[in-house]
Amino acid sequence: MTYDLPTVRGAYRYNAELKNWFDVGGKAEILFRPADIEDLQNFLKNYSKKIPVQIIGAASNVIISDEGVKGVVVRLSGEFAKISCDEEIIKAGAAALCGNVALHSKNAALSGLEFFSGIPGSVGGAIAMNAGCYGSDISQILVSAKALDLDGNLVELKNKDFGFFYRGSKISKKFIFVEGVFKTTRSTIEAVAEKISELNQQREKAQPIRAKTGGSTFKNPTGKKAWQLIDEAGCRGKIVGDAQISEKHCNFMINRGKSCAQNLINLGNEVKKTVKEKSGVDLEWEIKILQ
Ligand SMILES: Cc1cc2nc3c(=O)[nH]c(=O)nc-3n(C[C@H](O)[C@H](O)[C@H](O)COP(=O)(O)OP(=O)(O)OC[C@H]3O[C@@H](n4cnc5c(N)ncnc54)[C@H](O)[C@@H]3O)c2cc1C
Repeated sequence: MTYDLPTVRGAYRYNAELKNWFDVGGKAEILFRPADIEDLQNFLKNYSKKIPVQIIGAASNVIISDEGVKGVVVRLSGEFAKISCDEEIIKAGAAALCGNVALHSKNAALSGLEFFSGIPGSVGGAIAMNAGCYGSDISQILVSAKALDLDGNLVELKNKDFGFFYRGSKISKKFIFVEGVFKTTRSTIEAVAEKISELNQQREKAQPIRAKTGGSTFKNPTGKKAWQLIDEAGCRGKIVGDAQISEKHCNFMINRGKSCAQNLINLGNEVKKTVKEKSGVDLEWEIKILQ
């Protein structure tokens, strides 16, 4: 299909590969990398609202459908990856990787963002997902975010505007986040480095972080652990096609090498069904499926 797209300073790529952590799925019909906020704003103000538009970050929590993604996929890079700090406040563009933000805060001897070090996503994706681990999450450290709505209006959102809940917020679907502002506390480089190292060791022991994976497949139901329900339902190591429930962590699916997106989706749905039959609990997907 051909679309009449606004003239931009950034780049459109047609039939473009979408690199993602699972290493599965089809191409984006159109991939748009805006040059900067104004360029993205101009695109959003002028594109035909009949064209589907989706935003993708580092693609560490998504399955890209085998048929690819229709319309325009916006991916931020370059100008959007800047990180700076002023006293105890860290500002990071939406394309900055959480790991780089953690490194930046360590070098500035600022504590509070250590948990970012093991999250392989971008700041934009982390805000959208209210990403977190080991007792910390975005909702505890975000001061505000700059965002564009799908009509191109630039807004500044305060933490309280989000209505954060576990792995999401009430407003995430309505905006493209372009920058996050985070609060930290003064510490020492050594103390921050030690905390990062502890968290990374914990993660290394428990998760298949070197596999082709997408992180936690399902949200933890209130008061329960998804991995435990999956284990108790006998699904540890379960295989569909070349997709597998990790032997190391039952809430992680992995691509053993030749999996397609549908294998992963089918595996997730089979696990969901088995858990429901065994425990009565209806698991909710945390991973997003892009199509
Ligand atoms: C090995 C591994 C370990 C992980 N560990 C954790 C963990 O400990 N804790 C945790 O919470 N997650 C974890 N994850 C999942 C993932 O890293 C996080 O959810 C991360 O925040 C997703 O960011 P992303 O940039 O990759 O977003 P994507 O996966 O690209 O997108 C996720 C969602 O965010 C939306 N989105 C992305 N960018 C923007 C933006 N700029 N504006 C608006 N919406 C946007 C997308 O549309 C999509 O709905 C892990 C994943 C892997 C592979």
